[in-house]
Amino acid sequence: MIRQYELIEKVRAYNPKADVGLINRAYVYSMKAHGNQKRASGQPYLVHPLAVAGILADLQLDDASIAVGLLHDTLEDTLSTYDEIKGLFGQEVADLTEGVTKLSKISFEDKAVEQAENFRKLLLAMSKDIRVLLIKLADRVHNMRTLGAFSNEQKKRRIARETMDIYAQLADRIGLHALKAELEDLAFQILEPDEYTAITRRMADWREQDDLVGRVTAVLKDELTKAGIKAEVSGREKAIYSIYTKMVRKSLAFDQLTDIVAYRIVTDTKRECYEVLGMLHDRFKAIPGRFKDYISAPKPNGYQSLHTSVVGPFGNRMEVQIRTREMHEIAENGVAAHWLYKPAEGTNVKAEETQLAARPAHDSRSSPYRWLKSLVEQLQGVDDPAEFYENAKLELFSDNVFAFTPKGDVVQLPRGATPLDFAYAVHSNLGNKTVSAKVNGSVVPLRRVLENGDMVEIVTSPHQHPNPGWREFVVSSRARAAINRFLRQQERVEQVRLGREILEKAARRDGWSWTEKEFAKIVTKLPVQQVESVEDAFAALGQGRLFPRQVMEIMAPELAQPLSPAKAADKAAEKAVERMAKRKAEESAGRIVDEAVGLEGITPGMSVHFAKCCSPLPGEDIVGIIATGKGINIHMRTCKNLEQFVDQPDRWLPVRWSSTAEHGDLRQFICRLRFHVKNDPGALALITSTIANADANIIEIATENRNLDSTSIRCEMEIKSKEHLNKLIQHLSGLKVMLRVEKIYGWS
Ligand code: MN
Repeated sequence: MIRQYELIEKVRAYNPKADVGLINRAYVYSMKAHGNQKRASGQPYLVHPLAVAGILADLQLDDASIAVGLLHDTLEDTLSTYDEIKGLFGQEVADLTEGVTKLSKISFEDKAVEQAENFRKLLLAMSKDIRVLLIKLADRVHNMRTLGAFSNEQKKRRIARETMDIYAQLADRIGLHALKAELEDLAFQILEPDEYTAITRRMADWREQDDLVGRVTAVLKDELTKAGIKAEVSGREKAIYSIYTKMVRKSLAFDQLTDIVAYRIVTDTKRECYEVLGMLHDRFKAIPGRFKDYISAPKPNGYQSLHTSVVGPFGNRMEVQIRTREMHEIAENGVAAHWLYKPAEGTNVKAEETQLAARPAHDSRSSPYRWLKSLVEQLQGVDDPAEFYENAKLELFSDNVFAFTPKGDVVQLPRGATPLDFAYAVHSNLGNKTVSAKVNGSVVPLRRVLENGDMVEIVTSPHQHPNPGWREFVVSSRARAAINRFLRQQERVEQVRLGREILEKAARRDGWSWTEKEFAKIVTKLPVQQVESVEDAFAALGQGRLFPRQVMEIMAPELAQPLSPAKAADKAAEKAVERMAKRKAEESAGRIVDEAVGLEGITPGMSVHFAKCCSPLPGEDIVGIIATGKGINIHMRTCKNLEQFVDQPDRWLPVRWSSTAEHGDLRQFICRLRFHVKNDPGALALITSTIANADANIIEIATENRNLDSTSIRCEMEIKSKEHLNKLIQHLSGLKVMLRVEKIYGWS
């Protein structure tokens, strides 16, 4: 248990200029406010805020944070008020205390939507001042350390689950690795007590066996001295939970684990890191595929190190992490270490921005705020909390892929990202204008999944614009938000145009006229919500939220008779007419060619899907079916599935391939073929090379049936058009080994 004077000493050790008076006053205030409150353990309540402040001092935070550590429970659990704290300790301390209190009220056990909304609140609170999260995490660590005092088993498990799922992840994300490991181990102990005990016992046995760590460390020190490199060597055991997840993930027994201990070599300079690496690979056998250079490509949270695994001096496989002292600081304390170099006004997102601008570009990539900043940017564009939560969770909890621009800049993307995600990550204007992409020099489909280290070149056209189909394969929330934003804007333009047309027609029909100027004067009087400008009013008319008659009642009241019941029926009929007018206008707009999709008869912005049952290719006879949800499904005119729509003629939409699509200039489409092949050696190689030479991409190829003398193979590939497919089939049929080629409809 830490005492007040010990806390002050701890703070002074790293911050000699700390405002000791502030911390002391916060201590006294907290003591008075909490009075004789007791914790579940029976200890005086004050033990808790003191411990939280102590943890914050371990992270070397500023005096305001330490003070808030002491005050953090006063607003919630005592009679204190925001104004009182503001009066005594100033705005900064009051705001931080309030931020932590708000955060404490957020619970993640509720239903999905509430959970999403809460998550959004959490991120917003954090983005205002990252210290709020640091204090909340310190609070959670101490609560987890003392959770044993609770007798309510269910509540304990709930808190442990929340710690594991949310707080440990957040700690990891801002680079507080030691804290994350502690939170996980504490939660794991409650969630899986048997597993926890078993691994702890094995660890104790293993530690006693022989002093392997000591012997390896001695050898490494010796080698470094011989090589003339000054560096510190240490060996650190993995956390219990991370050992457990490794055993589960790789289905390994405890004895099969090779990295219970990670050896760490800390140098003075970056150059020495690479020298140490060279020495290790020279002296010991490197294990292939285990080398990772997080120095030139830092992790999203700013982590930098070289990782390698070698066969050690005693035949032991071992992982070694090599880093400079500064990298080590950041690896241990993450955002808190960055925080030490904060600008005077405190570490909020705005301050970070100025910091980013001041620093060279390669530095900003390792900033722990980058992800937070981009999340906050997205907060502005997403209306649906559930959608936001899904996107944010995806960004927050999944691994990343690093790709390179042609100039060699690193772009960090969520796993599964495509060249389109890449383009949007660079700039949303680049994304919006993307036509095609080259990966490592060759043209690939936009939906190709990027791998670590891919060099991506984006080809743009000023005439390009996002199409709804893109949403199906982008994975980053940044790309999805940008595409949605564009489509929404476009939808709006269309609605405004439509609304204007509807109003013009209606006025002509009813014998009155209007000017935009007159209309502008009365828009706020219209009986419809969220209309503040003429454009809004047109959009409302286009959406069918507002009717021309309602406009007439205000602009030409002498013509608008009060409604009798009979007239009400007329009005309903009138509405039907307006709806028809709207549909007609849509149809006339439908003649526009959507070059991005390659179809005529589709309004750009409409969501188009190519039916999987028949996978139509450009050049083939097609028809559109208006889907029950949103958008259009494109089928081949011969597709069997069309039968079910025979009695719903209003869902059929005439569509045609555009000429560019037919010439295969646009993009790739999916096509599936079945080959019946003689069982000759090399047959498969011959087929795949023929397909590659014909400029088609194989997505999947699999053997279906193998008979005595023939085999059937199915193959899914990307094809540009019907013409392209016919040529390919010609080539394939010409092969000696080929018995028959057929197109597959449906893919089981
Ligand atoms: Mn607390």
